[in-house]
Amino acid sequence: MMAQYLDIKAQYPDALLFYRMGDFYEMFFEDAVNAAEALDIALTKRGKHDGNDIPMCGVPVHAAEGYLLTLIRKGFRVAVGEQLESPAEAKKRGSKSVVKRDVVRLVTPGTITEDSLLEARRHNFLTAYCELRDQAALAWVDISTGAFHVMPVVRVRVSPELARLAPSELIVPDGPSLDHLRPIADDHQIPLTPLAKSSFDSTAAEKRICNLFKVSTLEAYGNFTRAEVSAMGAVIDYLDITQKGKLPLLQPPVQEAEDRVVQIDAATRRSLEITRSLSGGRAGSLLAVIDRTVTPAGGRLLEQRLSSPSRNLDVIRSRLAALDFSVEQAPLVQSMRAALRKTPDLDRALSRLALDRGGPRDLAAVRNTLIQAEAISELCQGIELPELLATAISTLTGFEELLPLLDAALIAEPPLMTRDGGFIAEGYYQELDEARVLRDEGRSVIAGFQKKYADHTGITSLKIKHNNVLGYFIETTATHAEKMLSSPLSDSYIHRQTTANQVRFTTIELSEIETRILNARNLALEIEKRLYSKLSEAALGNAARLNSAARGLAELDLVTALADLAQGENWSCPTVDNSRAFDIVGGRHPVVEQALRQQGGSGFVANDCELSADNGAAIWLLTGPNMAGKSTFLRQNALITVLAQMGSYVPADRAHIGLISQLFSRVGASDDLARGRSTFMVEMVETAAILNQADNRALVILDEIGRGTATYDGLSIAWATLEHLHEVNQSRALFATHYHELTQLAGKLTGVDNATVSVKEWEGEVIFLHEVKKGAADRSYGVQVAQLAGLPSSVVTRARDVLNMLEEGSRSGAGKIQIDDLPLFAAASPAQPKAAQGPSPVEELLGDIHPDDLSPREALDALYRLKEASG
Ligand code: ATP
Repeated sequence: MMAQYLDIKAQYPDALLFYRMGDFYEMFFEDAVNAAEALDIALTKRGKHDGNDIPMCGVPVHAAEGYLLTLIRKGFRVAVGEQLESPAEAKKRGSKSVVKRDVVRLVTPGTITEDSLLEARRHNFLTAYCELRDQAALAWVDISTGAFHVMPVVRVRVSPELARLAPSELIVPDGPSLDHLRPIADDHQIPLTPLAKSSFDSTAAEKRICNLFKVSTLEAYGNFTRAEVSAMGAVIDYLDITQKGKLPLLQPPVQEAEDRVVQIDAATRRSLEITRSLSGGRAGSLLAVIDRTVTPAGGRLLEQRLSSPSRNLDVIRSRLAALDFSVEQAPLVQSMRAALRKTPDLDRALSRLALDRGGPRDLAAVRNTLIQAEAISELCQGIELPELLATAISTLTGFEELLPLLDAALIAEPPLMTRDGGFIAEGYYQELDEARVLRDEGRSVIAGFQKKYADHTGITSLKIKHNNVLGYFIETTATHAEKMLSSPLSDSYIHRQTTANQVRFTTIELSEIETRILNARNLALEIEKRLYSKLSEAALGNAARLNSAARGLAELDLVTALADLAQGENWSCPTVDNSRAFDIVGGRHPVVEQALRQQGGSGFVANDCELSADNGAAIWLLTGPNMAGKSTFLRQNALITVLAQMGSYVPADRAHIGLISQLFSRVGASDDLARGRSTFMVEMVETAAILNQADNRALVILDEIGRGTATYDGLSIAWATLEHLHEVNQSRALFATHYHELTQLAGKLTGVDNATVSVKEWEGEVIFLHEVKKGAADRSYGVQVAQLAGLPSSVVTRARDVLNMLEEGSRSGAGKIQIDDLPLFAAASPAQPKAAQGPSPVEELLGDIHPDDLSPREALDALYRLKEASG
């Protein structure tokens, strides 16, 4: 057995081998040590190899999915080695033969299909990157839904595209391209899988794709570059390797153009918290706040759309037209959503069926989906629909054969697996019904036997029981056993077993009935499994149409969810066109608005933003106190753009947006010590990326440029950056800064306007109004905000003094203040440390109090005196 183990393991050196032994998957040697640690399970040993103990650990087969999930999340790949025959079959070849085993599947993060291993509302993309001399391409597939895409990509766009797709696994050719991809993959936390170069060979790849889709040429799907063909071929080859020849149901490849969607780089995605919040989770992101979809497929489509806002006006307009219609048809929308809520995840059920990993519940998922699809299509009958909705609805019908078939064949809530049968409905198949009757009759005959034996022996507690070793047997206590053997029928009781308290017998008639029951049960099970295969085949025969129905339902879910959101949140339909307008009236930040609502308190203050420019740049230079709401304002305008171009209503009273092709946002600062970059370095790298790439259709959000260095260096960098954006990039931009000196640029550069977030000062404290208006801020109120944050009052007072002196110095033209010019804290500060002034009245009083000598009454009096003295 060990020889067989080592033989199989040698073929999967990079994976943990789950070696099936009966009801367990066992692991040996280093695999066992690693898995025991990762899974926190006991490490044992079994036998010896080369004189040393063999470490071993195992997981029960019935609980394997949970362990698989943990291992995959921790970055392992798992080769599942199954028994390909029963021990009895092996014995036929000789008493010492080892059961045949082989790997039936290699489980990797990008190739999982089980619901328990997948996130319902996220795609699970397996991506391949291929680089040929002057071309590169990305291909990606979600085997749990069958979606298959490919696009050409230039090197600098690899990282942003990977950030957009957020794949679970990236395959790359073993070789030089690994070097530049490894940091990108690490950055996005994508597991990297090097694959032999032969998997990327473009000629073999073309054949592979053509075979898979049964076409003679790829032209039907588009004009692909060699790099694209190679990347697609590698994906298919990898699926072949991991699924051991069983290919999932893939949809024909869809070629994506690079200019199809708004370009958003990884840093911008992070800072805008579009689909993930800064802490990495979904909660707190824009996606989480706007997600009102009611099906997993709708949720996945929403994430996809939000990650890839469109640059195509026709696409945006058709989505908005469908949304307009849905907003007006509230009752219809609510009925559709009620039906959608009952719709299972068809895509994933189908892919499991195709990979032979499905069960009766997946067939029921197909049936239940089709029932709801029919209901939805009936709801829309006779109503004139906008094009997008009409197309979606048209995918839902045409299953006149499949639906009745599944409906008649399956029970209402079938079990997950075929193993124990019991999922085919009564009355569907006569032969099955007969076998079941026989089986059930046998059971009632046994109940009759129990009564008969009890009567004959006079033992009322006598029972007929069943276990896998003995089959059916009569069981009685040891004391009663004597009675049995002296009963009139004692000769017919055959002793089988004596346990601590019980004695077990059988009879010939009991054995006979058992064989009949067993045969009937096996027959019923066999028939059910046969019917399952037939039904599964019937469903897969409709796979292409079922896939498009699933897409149609996802689209309907998304549109109706966005309509529900728009109405519930009072959002408005944006105007998106080819102009260079950017006119937002009454805009809000959806995530902050929701957070404020949840906290109670005063609501979100809506603000306008006007960056329209027919020619050249349009930039708002935003100054204002800390905490006033500058970052919120910047981000809300970027998010409104993302929402509008994905085809959603927006959180504003009105929005007019001239198509944006690139979105850049540099907000806040963080360092990236792992990659050897300080805070300032990260800031500069990101700013450089913007200035080098932004064009006149870009929307640029810059928050606090040049903060991480000395004041004059920072100011100079911010100044030059603003000029470059205005003169060279000519983008529409929002630029927030605390460098008030920059506000002078508004007078010099035609496209730059000053704006500020207003506050009120009242009795030395700031009150945030969160209102953005034209003009420049007078100051930063940093010290007041520091006070609000709870800085010790001595530090706040001292900071005020230093600030006054610095401001005085620069007003009087004394120039840069030298440290030596500033009087030191203890000597000059009006907020002298208390010790220097002698004890306060309270302290004096306290000195006179001796708690041990006080009665309760005196203690209370002392408290009153203290309170009085404190003023
Ligand atoms: P800093 O300069 O310190 O970075 P900031 O001006 O960028 O501050 P924000 O972080 O945008 O300030 O906002 C601070 C807080 O003010 C937010 O967390 C939010 O609670 C509140 N806030 C911001 N904008 C608004 C608004 N329009 N209406 C109501 N509350 C708001």
